[in-house]
Amino acid sequence: MNILILGGTAEARDLAERLVAQGHAVTTSLAGRTQSPLLPPGEVRIGGFGGVAGLAATLRAGAVDWLVDATHPYAGQISLNAVAASRETGVPLLRILRPAWTPPDGANWTHVETTSEAAACLPPGARVLLTTGHAGLEQFLAREDCQFIVRLIETPALAIPPHARLLQSRPPYGLADEIALMDGERITHLVTKNSGGGQTAAKLDAAMRLGVKVIMIARPVYGPAIEVDSVDAAVARLSAAG
Ligand code: NAP
Repeated sequence: MNILILGGTAEARDLAERLVAQGHAVTTSLAGRTQSPLLPPGEVRIGGFGGVAGLAATLRAGAVDWLVDATHPYAGQISLNAVAASRETGVPLLRILRPAWTPPDGANWTHVETTSEAAACLPPGARVLLTTGHAGLEQFLAREDCQFIVRLIETPALAIPPHARLLQSRPPYGLADEIALMDGERITHLVTKNSGGGQTAAKLDAAMRLGVKVIMIARPVYGPAIEVDSVDAAVARLSAAG
């Protein structure tokens, strides 16, 4: 089959590898945000489609049989575009959505809907480990009454002010290192998205052990699709269709 994968995640790379090995014609689409992305096997295209109309045109031009949304759970716009383009063209949409993290017994999590709500609920004097990525960074940094460690993979476009420090690193992160970081920096609050998966989950365990409060930003709403929670399930669903 002719399969277009919306990628940018480890799941998308894994899926492309398995579908190419099965003999499918696979194209992975990347947004182009990462400077040196790990490239999957098969064809790769980079950059936005130009909204729903552009994605729909790509599906038609490529005679795509399946569109797979394997983007990050917080890449909300492209996921909505995928729903709309699938509806417009009739190309079926399969979404891989990794399960959300859930609070362990005794954990201290505050659930919020948006980055601005998360920024607003920090108490004055909070020492914050911020792991929410580039989007909405300015809303946190406007809180000059708090101190921030901003952990990012890529350098931000924004200048980092004196009450914040940039920690550039790449997952996976282990429990011992997360405990050492939070303890060493006397972190009082961890702000995070509910990305799910194992690569960055240790911070939640570390926070619970150290009594660090977790502010958890909810996932976006994506719209209807055939949804699976793993690459295995996606391969099985596509095999059943083929
Ligand atoms: P987004 O807000 O949902 O998308 C914004 C725009 O970027 C889309 O409208 C689309 O432009 C373009 N785009 C996004 N993903 C694309 C893809 N895979 N291929 C082609 N165009 C894409 O997405 P985002 O949060 O900026 O994330 C961008 C990429 O980074 C995604 O592929 C995602 O899997 C990956 N990523 C995101 C996060 C996160 O926390 N958001 C974390 C890890 C990886 P057009 O409308 O012009 O088509």
